[in-house]
Amino acid sequence: MEILKESGQREVFCGLTSIVWLHRRMPDAFFLVVGSRTCAHLVQSAAGVMIFAEPRFGTAILGERDLAGMADANEELDRVVTDLLGRRPEIRTLFLVGSCPSEVIKLDLAKAAERLNNQLQGRVRVVNYSGSGIETTFTQGEDNALTALVPLLPATEEHQLLLVGTLADGVEDRFLTLFERLGIGPVTSLPPRRSTELPAVGPNTKVLLTQPFLGTTARALEARGAEIISSPYPLGVEGSRRWFEAAAAAFGVTPLHTASVLNPLAERGRAAVAPHRRELEGKRLFLLPDSQMELALGRFLHRECGMELVEVGTPYLDRKLQEQELALLPDELQLSEGQHLEQQLERVRASRPDLVVCGMGLANPLEAEGIATKWSIELVFSPIHGCDQAGDLAELFARPLRRRTALAFA
Ligand code: SF4
Repeated sequence: MEILKESGQREVFCGLTSIVWLHRRMPDAFFLVVGSRTCAHLVQSAAGVMIFAEPRFGTAILGERDLAGMADANEELDRVVTDLLGRRPEIRTLFLVGSCPSEVIKLDLAKAAERLNNQLQGRVRVVNYSGSGIETTFTQGEDNALTALVPLLPATEEHQLLLVGTLADGVEDRFLTLFERLGIGPVTSLPPRRSTELPAVGPNTKVLLTQPFLGTTARALEARGAEIISSPYPLGVEGSRRWFEAAAAAFGVTPLHTASVLNPLAERGRAAVAPHRRELEGKRLFLLPDSQMELALGRFLHRECGMELVEVGTPYLDRKLQEQELALLPDELQLSEGQHLEQQLERVRASRPDLVVCGMGLANPLEAEGIATKWSIELVFSPIHGCDQAGDLAELFARPLRRRTALAFA
């Protein structure tokens, strides 16, 4: 498969965005962005729905005096943290999240975390990672957050399965039931639901990634002795089935038993996809690089929903983690890595696809040009993993097409 490599202007959200789904997963954690007012606005608008709830994220604002090096940003950070933990005694883990401004003024958040950990003496664990938009995309925020947790995981020799990547709680519950029926266990998760209950890792740990954008975390876990199970990602019926089958094979479950557990699920999933397939079949799809989920989505929409792939773009291509997805995509596929916004938009305009999957910043301009779009960020906020969710996943792509048809007849 030919891969078009591009570099130039990019149009993606930064890693701070991942706080929106990470804070939901770990309600006892707090995410303190060390950034500018721009960063505060981004997190607030991305997580706008949380405005009426007691938020579990905030921003330590780096003002002009900090950015000009006139104030000691470390002193101000310590003051903000002391104030925050005084007001919010329920916080168990505090993530200091770096941003472009904190990186530009070279504020050492690893040192700050170490200093605060010494001061807090185990009452609250302080962890740091970068959510900066310099050379990163929004899903890398989760990858960085989980990588920061890996050194803190206790060691174990136990044979176990570790699921890595944030799943909606309901989806995770269903997966745990399925693993139990397959006879696979114990099964733990990173990130855990409680930030203090970190899973253990060791040479007998087999890791199943729930998302394709966790390359750095995967390598950190391998360095702790864990083995990554190679598989497509659990999106759609086929991906989910192969994902469970890969785990079953790694744990020595017989194919017969695996099939007896998965067959009814797959049948139900295919029936749920069928009505949406009728709307999607034959439609031309262009995926712009944004979330790193593009290969798995393209595979699902092509193989299970009958869509024609005009181009699949990904911000980065981790060949090892995407090996199985690549094998399921058509040989003649136009695949691009990286982004040169203007050139990509020219290809979109020239090919006039029926649907473009893209970042929020590009959706409105493309809609204004008469092209239906789907925000890729919605796919990390929605419960889309597993056979049971395959119908809902297909529906997410059928909806904008339906809307456009309705508008055309209005
Ligand atoms: S981290 Fe960088 S890209 Fe993200 S909101 Fe802050 S300044 Fe903007």
